Amino acid sequence: MREGIHPEYYQAKVVCNCGNEFVTGSTKPEIHVEVCSKCHPYYTGQQKAASARGRIDKFNKKYGVESK
Ligand SMILES: [Zn+2]
Repeated sequence: MREGIHPEYYQAKVVCNCGNEFVTGSTKPEIHVEVCSKCHPYYTGQQKAASARGRIDKFNKKYGVESK
């Protein structure tokens, strides 16, 4: 890592509740998420769909976004 160019930018390891791990650019060295592209109901259309969709609906209502 070179210093002084992007001192707070990391190749962050993202760890999902489903066990999936992937790397992305972030200002944090490690991130924990509840859903990722592997287990997100919009991608899988199956497991956890009910609970995750409820959470998304709450999010959408909170921010005034229409559910699709
Ligand atoms: Zn996941």
